[in-house]
Amino acid sequence: MQIKNIELRDFRNYKSLNLNVSEGAHIISGKNAQGKSNFIEAIYYSAFSRSFRNAKDKELIRDGADNCYLKIDFLSDDFNSKNCREESIIIYLDKNSKKKIKVNDIVIRKMSEFIGKLKISCFTPEDLFLISGSPSDRRRFLNRELSQIYPAYFRNIIDYHNVLNQRNTAIKQYKTNQSDVNLIKIWDDSLVDLAEKIINKRKKHLEEMNLVSSKLHKELSGKKEKLDLSYKGIFHGKNYSKNIEKYGKIKSGFKELLEENFETDLKYGYTTIGPHKDDFEIFINGKEAKKFASQGQKKLSALSIKMSQIDMIKEITGTIPIVLLDDVSSELDEERRIFLLDYIMGFQSFMTTTDIEIFKDKKNKFRNIVVNNGILKEDILARIK
Ligand code: ATP
Ligand code: MG
Repeated sequence: MQIKNIELRDFRNYKSLNLNVSEGAHIISGKNAQGKSNFIEAIYYSAFSRSFRNAKDKELIRDGADNCYLKIDFLSDDFNSKNCREESIIIYLDKNSKKKIKVNDIVIRKMSEFIGKLKISCFTPEDLFLISGSPSDRRRFLNRELSQIYPAYFRNIIDYHNVLNQRNTAIKQYKTNQSDVNLIKIWDDSLVDLAEKIINKRKKHLEEMNLVSSKLHKELSGKKEKLDLSYKGIFHGKNYSKNIEKYGKIKSGFKELLEENFETDLKYGYTTIGPHKDDFEIFINGKEAKKFASQGQKKLSALSIKMSQIDMIKEITGTIPIVLLDDVSSELDEERRIFLLDYIMGFQSFMTTTDIEIFKDKKNKFRNIVVNNGILKEDILARIK
């Protein structure tokens, strides 16, 4: 996968940008608040139609403008592959109307026609949320990663949430006007069917991720640390021991748990268990990272987990993702920075920095682009030096 051209109009602080990009690594350097993260965000947004900063769509429109436009032209596969096609994604945001997405000039009707088109791996200092954040942060990460790899997973998630919403509405209606209790239970079979697909995919992905990320983490930690990931779902804890024989039989196990939790769901007014509440745990040398790891250990574990996704996207889909790094290298010590940079050197990558000097040894291997108040300029001198 390779981006060829990036066009922005009225996106964040970019009034107008049309940038031809090349293969390999790019550094976007500049002072604070010039538009480095905004540039990375534009590429990320073109892949997920969501900001990695979880900003609202309207916040992305340049102050003073009513709408904005993003266009990414890219090659869908390696240049030498027979699957290589020239494709494009256009996203149009307007303050007063729904967002419009076009893939290859055709307006998409369902998000499943769009997610996974542009495959990316994105690193930011906020990745620490993988360790320190809430279960919903980790679920969002898993859902986005899995959705760009497996189109069916994305459809399952959408369908699951539709059924969940219907069930929750029925619970609320029951609470307000004592409607028939079966109007809640009719959703259970569809809910457990979809839950099984989602949980199986997450567990399998996490097992594979465990292998890849623990190998990377061993290297990153100078062979000192063992990283382990483990799915923490509805059958965890007391539910796990009670349903131990049923583990693997997700449908019947979840159905039974829904029955058992029925009163609780009624009390709270929504479905309190299910994959929409699941999580995963991260251990370093057998200890839960969230509780025991130092800040540095947390950063490195998050990095190992994120880096593992590059390999996994490549392995599973056969497509090499585009790598985005927002201000990551300045957070790492020299040894780890070199490890990361060498690792991503083989990818088309875009990384931001305020300090171009930290790349001095590798300067001629990057295309350096300087950003100044929403305007990008190639720094030819930095390439020649
Ligand atoms: P840092 O080095 O501090 O991370 P940065 O170069 O990454 O800086 P960005 O986050 O890209 O900075 O933001 C650049 C500027 O864009 C900021 O001044 C920010 O306030 C501004 N900005 C953000 N959203 C909008 C918007 N919708 N319209 C106009 N400007 C915006
Ligand atoms: Mg920034």
